[in-house]
Amino acid sequence: MTSFSKIWLSSPHMGGGEQKFVQQAFDSNWVAPLGPNVTGFETDLQAYLGNEHQVAALSSGTAALHLALLLLGVQAGDEVLCQSMTFSASANPIRYVGATPVFIDSENETWNLCPIALEAALLDRIANGKTPKAIIVVHLYGMPAKMTEILALSKKYAIPLIEDSAEALGSSYKGQKCGTFGALSILSFNGNKIITTSGGGALVTSDLKVKERAIFLATQARDEAPHYQHSEVGYNYRMSNICAGIGRGQMEVLDAHVALRRKAHQFYKDFFDRQEGTQVLHEPNMDFYSNHWLSAVVLNSFEEREALRLAFEAQAIETRPLWKPMHLQPVFEKYAFYGGTTAADLFAKGLCLPSGSNLTDSDFERIAQVLISFFEK
Ligand SMILES: *Cc1c(COP(=O)(O)O)cnc(C)c1O
Repeated sequence: MTSFSKIWLSSPHMGGGEQKFVQQAFDSNWVAPLGPNVTGFETDLQAYLGNEHQVAALSSGTAALHLALLLLGVQAGDEVLCQSMTFSASANPIRYVGATPVFIDSENETWNLCPIALEAALLDRIANGKTPKAIIVVHLYGMPAKMTEILALSKKYAIPLIEDSAEALGSSYKGQKCGTFGALSILSFNGNKIITTSGGGALVTSDLKVKERAIFLATQARDEAPHYQHSEVGYNYRMSNICAGIGRGQMEVLDAHVALRRKAHQFYKDFFDRQEGTQVLHEPNMDFYSNHWLSAVVLNSFEEREALRLAFEAQAIETRPLWKPMHLQPVFEKYAFYGGTTAADLFAKGLCLPSGSNLTDSDFERIAQVLISFFEK
């Protein structure tokens, strides 16, 4: 009998190299929000994304989104278009700067920003005399959004795109890495993400000046002077050298983690392909390459979703409904929404399944037993 320890949706998975970098930080007394690991982690990420990209390591993905809005000059009273189906951290920073979110539905294939609903929103807001200041697109669960269509709209209406790639490091679209599509892009290294620094994030830009400006704002906006001199409001958003050490170790295993998450996805896809009416989130065609950060399935009904979730829970296996769309959240429901019921339907019938890169064969056996007795007995 295998042990009945809890199986988590997605838990931190150390590669082994992390402690070496953290130890170096201790040995050299770089226990600070700057230092060789911060620079090293940024260099590693730049090498991974392509050296034409500039990376600023920050304290969280949320901080990176806040800085992205500030760097684009989004101010109080401005409007920002945002994918509704996402984690709240995609939308909260819009409120930090006093701007107004306008939420957009998803399409059925990638579950991300629907280009048709996006264009309807753009036309309507512009007709109302309020051109949005930015568009926030998310690659949900690692699945790239329909970037060709979305970039074309960003260009057509001259509105910059912020790419929330918090869940999609290791994914790509038409051969280009997620995290490199936006006027500004962000990554997250929170504990449950594909790689972690315990907590952390990054801003990605193709412009070194923008990176320098991001770091300036992230380190309390200190002017050049022997004393502490400030002409602007600053933030304490830089990544610590300890966290960056964990990140450097994690970069050594990123590709391996992506391969393992994709294997978990294949396990679920093989099973649910046999179940009438269910659909695992999968790559629509060869243009899409997902890190499959989380595997997720849409079931026949809300009732079936809940019954399956509880069947897993009874066996100490964590699953979770899909992200509840922002336009249905009490904190955001007063804001405008464009689209239909795609995101709402996905939320009603969808379930995220255990997807960690550290799942063992016996974990998969336990998961399979629940699935088989639920669907095939
Ligand atoms: C995790 C996440 C964030 C926020 O990242 P943190 O590092 O936790 O602040 C933002 N957007 C999405 C889609 C996320 O999944």
